[in-house]
Amino acid sequence: RQAKALGHGLMSAYNRSLGRLGQRALEHDLRAAISTDQLFLVYQPKVDFDTRALVGCEALLRWQHPSLGLIAPCDFIPVAEESGVIVQLGRWTLDEACRQIRQWLDAGKDGPGVAVNLSPRQFLHGDIVETVRTSLAAHGVPGNLLELELTESVAVCDVDRVIAIMHELKRLHVSLSIDDFGTGFSSLSYLMRLPVDTLKIDRSFICDLVTDQRAQALVKGVIDICDGLGMNVIAEGVETAAQASLLSVLGCSTMQGYLFGRPMSPDQFEDALQAVSD
Ligand code: C2E
Ligand code: CA
Ligand code: CA
Ligand code: CA
Repeated sequence: RQAKALGHGLMSAYNRSLGRLGQRALEHDLRAAISTDQLFLVYQPKVDFDTRALVGCEALLRWQHPSLGLIAPCDFIPVAEESGVIVQLGRWTLDEACRQIRQWLDAGKDGPGVAVNLSPRQFLHGDIVETVRTSLAAHGVPGNLLELELTESVAVCDVDRVIAIMHELKRLHVSLSIDDFGTGFSSLSYLMRLPVDTLKIDRSFICDLVTDQRAQALVKGVIDICDGLGMNVIAEGVETAAQASLLSVLGCSTMQGYLFGRPMSPDQFEDALQAVSD
């Protein structure tokens, strides 16, 4: 197999050595992965820092490659995007997330909401609304338990079309959030036209929060804007207690990050749910 020929070991090496041929090998392997159970989702908790409640989770994609081992999304999502495989990948991910939500509902786990990442190409592909509707229906999942995370870059395309799709998704009662907020190049007024429920403040701002006045001012600004517009705000990449308490003081109590939990298997996530309800 081409992937094997590229050598085993580190995915970064695999990625670095990707020529056009390598890219095609990866693409080929990725198509196979979808139909042969090599993909799985891990779940990272979203918590309310003030009440310590678990408020939901984000589903993150992983690929257990037969010869290369575990591959992180940053090493295959771009290839999937470029080749278009992302559309099939996205269908799988949405369906798997809904299957998991159903399983938690059936187990009486009080249905934590699950957020799924959608890349721009997936979102703008003709049948995203149908895909979401189908996955929800197939597993009997109420839309309000599903959240879709989109990066700002989706809005630099055709904003009217983006807004129209968003409204259709909202009719399914799913919630929408802007991921990695602050890292794109879209203007604030542009973004504010989007019917989204939540802004996720990017990790890069949280990283410097405690030491950098400018990061603090920026984060405070975003929190206040959300407050004023009646939107939810969540900070991602929270790693230290100092960051968490500062965020809380600034008015953002919903957080996600290694401080509260790494992305974990469904089993581990159930234990976390259990621990909260005990
Ligand atoms: P993202 O959506 O911004 O996801 C958050 C990433 O930050 C995850 O990396 C997560 O493991 C990591 N993270 C969470 N908390 C912390 C923290 O406290 N510190 C640090 N340093 N990192 C933290 P991951 O799982 O490697 O995912 C990377 C990116 O790949 C995601 O960024 C997302 O853009 C993309 N991705 C992941 N799953 C999917 C998917 O199913 N579909 C699509 N289209 N993209 C996905
Ligand atoms: Ca995300
Ligand atoms: Ca993010
Ligand atoms: Ca990020």
